[in-house]
Amino acid sequence: MQTMDSFNFAGKKAFVRVDFNVPLNEKFQITDDTRIRAAIPTLKKILSDGGSVIIGSHLGRPQGPSDKFSLKHILGRVSELLGTEVQFADDCVGEEAKAKAAALKPGEALLLENLRFYAEEEGKARGLKEDATKEEVDSANKATKESQKAFTKKLASYADVYVNDAFGTAHRAHASTALIADHFDAEHKLFGYLLQNEINAVEKVMKDTQRPFTAIMGGSKVSSKIDIIRNLLDKVDNLILAGGMTYTFVKADGGKIGDSIVEDDKLDLARELVALAKEKGVNLVMATDTKIADSFSNDAKTDFCPVNEIPDGWQGLDIGPESAKLFSEVIKGSKTILWNGPVGVFEFENFAVGSKAISNAIVEATKNGAFSLVGGGDSVACVNNFGHAEKVSYVSTGGGALLEMIEGKVLPGVKAIRGY
Ligand code: AMP
Repeated sequence: MQTMDSFNFAGKKAFVRVDFNVPLNEKFQITDDTRIRAAIPTLKKILSDGGSVIIGSHLGRPQGPSDKFSLKHILGRVSELLGTEVQFADDCVGEEAKAKAAALKPGEALLLENLRFYAEEEGKARGLKEDATKEEVDSANKATKESQKAFTKKLASYADVYVNDAFGTAHRAHASTALIADHFDAEHKLFGYLLQNEINAVEKVMKDTQRPFTAIMGGSKVSSKIDIIRNLLDKVDNLILAGGMTYTFVKADGGKIGDSIVEDDKLDLARELVALAKEKGVNLVMATDTKIADSFSNDAKTDFCPVNEIPDGWQGLDIGPESAKLFSEVIKGSKTILWNGPVGVFEFENFAVGSKAISNAIVEATKNGAFSLVGGGDSVACVNNFGHAEKVSYVSTGGGALLEMIEGKVLPGVKAIRGY
């Protein structure tokens, strides 16, 4: 299989699928350009080899062409970061795009308009009546899937080689993220640097695991993490379950949780996961003490108490010092670490202490040779806030895509290129 370093792009046109789905303010200014920056190494390598690039991306969730979701808003920034004037095509599959792609010279770049202006990108019908019957919906979706083939073929026709560098959408089987790969032979489709790095990091954790392996799962609810927890139970030595989901486990075990966040319909599931961990010999580590608050606010009155003795009128919003010490010791004794989800309401400074202790322990373990992967929106925000992003082994850029990989799913965007 070709890689970015093995492939010589000289004289070739590359269709590069990137994830330029950046946040914009009301003046259409980019408020965070991380995603654009992340794809620059791939684009630069192609251009410096003497190739040319046709860049495809989505932005937001448009239901058709719309100025609000136009990629022209980000053209200037892309040119600036790439260090060359990038051309723009007003439509991703029109005559203009075709002509501009055909005219590209070595070292030149073209940004196509938002791929999701077409329903064919996602392969799902749009504009259906609210009262459409199941048959009508199915038939409209079938028609869109049918026209998706021609759409995909047009995108593929611009280029000699297909590069996927959009990790954020690698879990989607869309025209430009997966289907397009069928139009290129095995020697002419490859992962961009970003996507390859993401795959390497997850595989280092999930497949090429150095033990002990500790996963820290935080966040608000157990319901959104069930599949991940199940899959991790087959892989980890230690599983730290923390954050809001703690209280569902504590309640399931007969503890008093006061007004803490809880999923009452998941108590059986919590008991089942505890039993499963025992059966699989996984060391399940949960908080023993908690920092409680008399309201959900940074300025709330606070106290500490055992995690299963929270008085009514109070709620657990962070781990207590005893738990922070316990978790940190487990983390520091690990050789592979995966962190997804804060252990407290880190958005409130007064309840970010536990998450900071976790982050510190991960940094220390990394210094001592452990491989640490931090992923999933909020834990990434934590390491960024704490200034630790450079001190862990890898910070993932993918939300859903990362979680699906950890769940053990094969991502369509990955399979389309390497076959598995
Ligand atoms: P998730 O999107 O499921 O990863 O959840 C992240 C959110 O969980 C963050 O916004 C945290 O504020 C929240 N969270 C963490 N711990 C708690 C807690 N003890 N009570 C309520 N929310 C929490």
